[in-house]
Amino acid sequence: MDPVISKYEPVIGLEIHAQMKTKSKAFCKCSTEFHSSPNSNVCPVCLGYPGTLPVLNENLVDHIIRMGIALNCSIREVSIFARKNYFYPDLSKGYQITQFETPICTDGYLDITLKNKEVKRIGITRIHMEEDAGKSIHDFNDDESLVDFNRCGVPLIEIVSEPDIRSTEEAFLYLSKIRQTLVYLEINDGNMEEGSLRCDANISVRLKGEKEFGTRCEIKNLNSFKNVSDAIDAEIFRQIKLIESGGKVVFNTMTFNAKEKTTSATRSKEEAHDYRYFPEPDLVKVTVTEDWKQKIIESLPEFPDARCSRFMKEYSLPFSDSDEITQDKFFADYFEVAVSGLKSKDETSYRIVSNIVRAEVRRVLNEQKINIKEFNIPGKIISMIADSVSSGKVSVTASKEIFNILLKGNSEEEMISLFKKAESDLSQISDSSEIESVVIKILDENPKEVQRYKGGEKKLAGFFVGKIMQESHGKANPKIVNELLLKNLETE
Ligand SMILES: [Zn+2]
Repeated sequence: MDPVISKYEPVIGLEIHAQMKTKSKAFCKCSTEFHSSPNSNVCPVCLGYPGTLPVLNENLVDHIIRMGIALNCSIREVSIFARKNYFYPDLSKGYQITQFETPICTDGYLDITLKNKEVKRIGITRIHMEEDAGKSIHDFNDDESLVDFNRCGVPLIEIVSEPDIRSTEEAFLYLSKIRQTLVYLEINDGNMEEGSLRCDANISVRLKGEKEFGTRCEIKNLNSFKNVSDAIDAEIFRQIKLIESGGKVVFNTMTFNAKEKTTSATRSKEEAHDYRYFPEPDLVKVTVTEDWKQKIIESLPEFPDARCSRFMKEYSLPFSDSDEITQDKFFADYFEVAVSGLKSKDETSYRIVSNIVRAEVRRVLNEQKINIKEFNIPGKIISMIADSVSSGKVSVTASKEIFNILLKGNSEEEMISLFKKAESDLSQISDSSEIESVVIKILDENPKEVQRYKGGEKKLAGFFVGKIMQESHGKANPKIVNELLLKNLETE
């Protein structure tokens, strides 16, 4: 790293806005559906017509308490909503309903594991409920802007961290784990591209060893993991460059240009809004009873860290496999369906399932850009493939071929019949005399290589195995091939 840059230490806090998965909006019955045509999910309440009354969606409160408990927060017994007043064309009400002085969740934390395996605790200052504003569309044509109010009133929670983050890596890990937790709780779909997760980053820099924080700047509306990392890097660099050239950082709201990878000021402190917060007069206080909290605690799912440890213990998987599988809740669910369908429940079979889902299934998800819920082969068909490998009926190579054949199946019944046919077509030859005749044939055909092997080029064993497998159309049992190959090479 540049010695000038490495003199400094960044101080970062993140504010994450997450859309809550509810059917209706925060304070009215309009749908939250993302793909609806513009201005079709609106009503007098979310458009703020005079005389209308908002009614709080109970699911929003339920969801935020779940997140609060997951992030080790205190849950406030009584909290209220406030009006945040400002004018913006996509906010027809002229104010946004949010929580200001009494956020429902406070004083939590989240532990992240760094690359060097060190566990770092990031404090959570608060999590509060609020509603989203609409969306202005400026690029539809040159001489007019359009506005879509569908997002007005869509329920959000805002998760505000303490300024405990000290690097881009930590920011990335923290955001990833927040996203993972939201998805595990099934309260957010984790889709940054559709805007259901957005992030603001507060950044300052100081010389290493200094206690005082530097002046911070806030980058607004980062909507992808890559943009969060790139924007933080760009802002750290901008501030260090400014300080090194004798300048002073002043508080600014920044915007990130993803193409040029630079940040620039959009408004300064002098122009900062005075939101004139006051308690929302149309909503009653939110009261969380001990009973309600208890019910939520009892319904919480197993969290990723706990699930990863359990997979290592229950299925004898190494940490890397277990961690990879449990990153995504639904991927881990899929693995468990596949494992539960196994005929032979032993370490070898678990490892085979782990290999198939991590390599073959993951490859298809990446190629087709789909998630595991959209994947066509049911988990219990994976159990059948794994059983076939562990019992020695087909080789690992053949199992990959079977997997590819099943990808073309349209229904479970069709896949089962495709599986049976492929399993018998590709079943392994374990008859020693049959395999030995192939081994002898290949050695006879390649006398030069045999001589080189005997001269010490032991790695040529792989060459012979390849030829033998080819000759047997991938059906020879590799274990027997190896044994017979070595036996014949010694005695030749
Ligand atoms: Zn509405």
